[in-house]
Amino acid sequence: MKPLFKNLFYILVTFIALTAIFSLFNSGKSPEVVSLSKLALEINEGKVKQITVTENELGLKLVDNTEQTAKKETDAPLTETLKNYGVSAEKLAGVNLEVKEVSGWRFWFATLLPFVFPLLIIGFFFWFMMRQAQRGSNQAFGFTKSLVRMIMPDDKNKPKATFKDVAGLIEAKEELEQVVEFLKEPKKFLALGAKIPKGILLVGPPGTGKTMLARSVAGEANVPFFHISGSEFVELFVGVGASRVRDTFALAKKSAPAILFIDELDAIGRHRGAGLGGGHDEREQTLNQILVEMDGFDPNTQVIVLAATNRPDILDPALLRPGRFDRRVILDLPDIKDREAILNIHAKGKPLTKDVKLRQIAERTPGFSGADLANLMNEAAILTAQKDKTEIGMEELIASIEKVMLGPERRSFVLTPKEKEIAAYHEAGHALVAASLPHMDPIRKISIISRGRAAGYTLKLPTEDKHFHSKTEFLEELSVLLGGYAAEKTVFNEITTGASNDLEKTTELARSLVTRWGMSENLGPVVFGDRDELVFLGKEISEQKNYSEEMASKIDKEIYVFIDNAYKKALDILKEKRALLNQIAKTLIEKEILEKEEFEALVAAG
Ligand code: ADP
Ligand code: MG
Ligand code: ZN
Repeated sequence: MKPLFKNLFYILVTFIALTAIFSLFNSGKSPEVVSLSKLALEINEGKVKQITVTENELGLKLVDNTEQTAKKETDAPLTETLKNYGVSAEKLAGVNLEVKEVSGWRFWFATLLPFVFPLLIIGFFFWFMMRQAQRGSNQAFGFTKSLVRMIMPDDKNKPKATFKDVAGLIEAKEELEQVVEFLKEPKKFLALGAKIPKGILLVGPPGTGKTMLARSVAGEANVPFFHISGSEFVELFVGVGASRVRDTFALAKKSAPAILFIDELDAIGRHRGAGLGGGHDEREQTLNQILVEMDGFDPNTQVIVLAATNRPDILDPALLRPGRFDRRVILDLPDIKDREAILNIHAKGKPLTKDVKLRQIAERTPGFSGADLANLMNEAAILTAQKDKTEIGMEELIASIEKVMLGPERRSFVLTPKEKEIAAYHEAGHALVAASLPHMDPIRKISIISRGRAAGYTLKLPTEDKHFHSKTEFLEELSVLLGGYAAEKTVFNEITTGASNDLEKTTELARSLVTRWGMSENLGPVVFGDRDELVFLGKEISEQKNYSEEMASKIDKEIYVFIDNAYKKALDILKEKRALLNQIAKTLIEKEILEKEEFEALVAAG
């Protein structure tokens, strides 16, 4: 609970308790209070049946059973008082008079409460404030305590992850199997004098299951799992990062055998001295402390440090030296078989219709990470629920692929008729160029309903997972990327801002062709630029130029040639097939979405 809510909560409880106490003593609806003279009158009229005297309180019961109360003077006896008020003796004799002793606790309560109650309240507030103050000071001392999260092996609330929950990643799992064995039976290894790795680096793109795999190692070995993220170390408390490291390692050592997992190691492990803020910054001290701690492990320490990063290239070399993170486990994006397996894992507990073929979904999702696929299954479930269906079907799964890939559809983003026409020609241009080139994947879908940031989109269907790409493919890809631009130019003799994203991609691709893959005939197999990227500086600025100005202008010329040739090719195709382009665009304006079959029918007819 947040402190504010906690306070409110206490006040509320106190209030309720007080109300309860008071209502205990005043239960029922309170009877009418009458004066003594009225009472005297009532007795004389013969209305009163009974009087109960408790101290100075008179409880009256009338003949018609209504109840009243009155107060008598403190010292004078009641009969005396009533006589003074003119009550005749025989009338009084007709009234049933009863004197009650004040019960002990009630008496004490009544006399003490007025004194004790304020004291209680004051005491409560003092206690309350002391507690607050104490907590404050605890926080002041405790904020260097590590923010480490811990999962104990016998924790029932957190389901234990095992290798079974991780699909694919065969090599990574094999590698980590050793760690599991060591944690289970360290003696076996130590008896042989084997050195067990202290630090293992999990390397892979985001969403490939690094965090998950680390957890599952702990789950398999049945040991405590300490989890802290690199960015949390550096939460800008100067001087605290290092002591957090110390605390975290101390904690892990105390519960050895254990796994200590540092997520996003690159947040602290960047090359020292690479920061904008100069050398001795917070990050550097934190990093040093990690190195110190890891070196301080004696060989028998049964704590294994796992760390995850998607940027091994920027890690400080000191982290990677023997005795530190000297082992790497690579996690790749899943291939088609693994994608199917991941989909299967995340389909558990989700009812699917009989015709669902997860294999087909896997075929359509090259480049998806495990996290993307998990997300896809979830989106499909949400979509199905929205449609009030009870089983997830192929239709929902396919719709979710696009949602995960491109963001949600924005049907409310309305294009004017002119914009719609431009968008239709633009997408038709991409699609037609792609369909006319031999190495391009078939078109799966064309749409001019905007999605995420794109006004329209053309999806190609990769027929296989490719690990290598040829120059020919890249050149054709450049033409396809420029197909939208070329169509706008051909049809309207005008260019809109809609093509800007395509142009960025085109330039990026052409630059890579020349500077990274050695695909330029004139410049040959040379890699230009030292891609020693600094995250926060952005790629462009930090790319070290390790070539001359002269070379730079040659590179630019080569890039230009690639792009210009690709553009000409796209233009040629579109000019030659202008009638077909018109036909596709017209159909698109009408239907807004063209599926693979419809598009292919148009192309075949045209
Ligand atoms: P990373 O740490 O590499 O960014 P995570 O471990 O956080 O990725 O993965 C995010 C989610 O993606 C996981 O919770 C899991 O649901 C899913 N996921 C990723 N890879 C796999 C896999 N190989 N098998 C099953 N689920 C996976
Ligand atoms: Mg992660
Ligand atoms: Zn485009």
